[in-house]
Amino acid sequence: MSTTRCVHDLRYAGALNVMQGEEVVKIVEAWRCRRCGATKVGLRGPGIVTSTEGLLDLLEPGDARWIVVLWRGVGGIPPDVTAVAAKPGDVVKIETPHEGEDEFIVDSDYRLRRRLDGGEPESVKSFQLDEALTGWIDLAEWPPRLFTLKRHSG
Ligand SMILES: [Zn+2]
Repeated sequence: MSTTRCVHDLRYAGALNVMQGEEVVKIVEAWRCRRCGATKVGLRGPGIVTSTEGLLDLLEPGDARWIVVLWRGVGGIPPDVTAVAAKPGDVVKIETPHEGEDEFIVDSDYRLRRRLDGGEPESVKSFQLDEALTGWIDLAEWPPRLFTLKRHSG
């Protein structure tokens, strides 16, 4: 580990398209520093073209990773997605419309578990952003599946 501060050279790393059927719910985009691996993430609604809108913090390399968090709609509230940077053992709070599924503990595999009882959330699903880049998720079915262009064989 170098103590010298990296002058980041961010390159576009890819996008995750979050759909509901034919509709785009949101696009999660990532830029990664080609020198140190620091990552910046942006969340974009459909039709928003300014790249500065919805930009989240820059995550310096370390134990924390970006986690994409999706939740299903309820009543008149549509499904939505956000991203958080967290490491195993962290407690994260995410405002979802689902009771008891708004506070989570980050598991050793970077999945979110309910803080309430350590169980797997029913209406909230999480993926590591690295696994999900250049892919898409369809929230029309629950639990949603992740489709990526880099398919594993067998
Ligand atoms: Zn860097």
